[in-house]
Amino acid sequence: MSELRVGLGVDAHAFGEGVPLVLGGVTIEHPRGLVGHSDGDVVAHALTDALLGAAGLADIGALFPSDDSTSRGADSLALLAEAYRQVQEAGYELVNADCVVLGEEPRVAPHRNTMRVRLAGAMAVDPKRVNVRATTTDRLGFTGRGEGLAAEAVALLRVDATG
Ligand code: MG
Repeated sequence: MSELRVGLGVDAHAFGEGVPLVLGGVTIEHPRGLVGHSDGDVVAHALTDALLGAAGLADIGALFPSDDSTSRGADSLALLAEAYRQVQEAGYELVNADCVVLGEEPRVAPHRNTMRVRLAGAMAVDPKRVNVRATTTDRLGFTGRGEGLAAEAVALLRVDATG
């Protein structure tokens, strides 16, 4: 019987002027970007934390401390790649992940396939294993007011039988 592990990841960042908007590893044309210690990619961060959680590892903040200058402005796909490397080292592989972006803008649908390819590419897995979807919050809360974006992700791991 293969052993399964599920993990949850949640992230949020504020919109700010003068920074590019990076979501799911895709730079999207938008008047404002997400402000963060790294590139502010809430989708990559939520997914990274879901993977780490499922493997019983520490959270993304512990793995890549925001007071560590090496992760300043970091490409979040590189952080995802390193986290998944640690997940594999712990003896797991990804079954599938599902990510949801919460916000009114931008529209995610035109970019979701590219996001799937980028996120999966960082882990060297089939894009079919990584889903990205979006929802608005009916203009409620900080995402509804357009102050920022949030993302949630779940990841399912199984014990890597080949490892
Ligand atoms: Mg974050």
